[in-house]
Amino acid sequence: MKIGVYPGSFDPITNGHLDVITRASHIVDELIVGVLQNPQKKPLFSVEERIEMLKVTTSHLPNVKIEAFSGLLIDFVKQHNAILIVRGLRAITDFEYELQMAQTNYNLDPTIETVFLATNVQYSFLSSSVVKELAQFGGHIENFVPPIVAECVWEKFKQF
Ligand code: ADP
Repeated sequence: MKIGVYPGSFDPITNGHLDVITRASHIVDELIVGVLQNPQKKPLFSVEERIEMLKVTTSHLPNVKIEAFSGLLIDFVKQHNAILIVRGLRAITDFEYELQMAQTNYNLDPTIETVFLATNVQYSFLSSSVVKELAQFGGHIENFVPPIVAECVWEKFKQF
């Protein structure tokens, strides 16, 4: 069984992430979306909230599982007997960091490969940060995130 891990912050999940998850779910038997708990970042949504949004928006994909992780990605990948790390590439600006991460992870364990899915061009500008910045100033986010996620974002900004 071919297991892949798609790691990220998903703060919150966007249509770009969902596109990568959907496409990656077609090339592995099981895809584990790893939601990073990073003490250095101050996310808008808690890890539990991010997991819940991911679960709801991927519930139609039976071979996709959502899990939190902290620490080294390669350890999380090995714990799940995965052989692939999936990452999305939006533009050249992603490339340098992604290459460095892929090469580091290859060095740590050469049996695990990183594969990159080129972004669907309609989402090439899209990131969780863009969604949060737009929402902060009341901008329209409904084309960029699933409807349930848009509701959660608006709910969150009401609290501030
Ligand atoms: P990180 O905090 O690691 O950047 P993100 O949640 O922003 O995590 O992204 C996780 C992965 O999804 C990264 O590989 C990123 O390049 C990819 N990604 C993010 N947005 C898009 C998008 N619009 N299209 C394709 N891939 C994307």
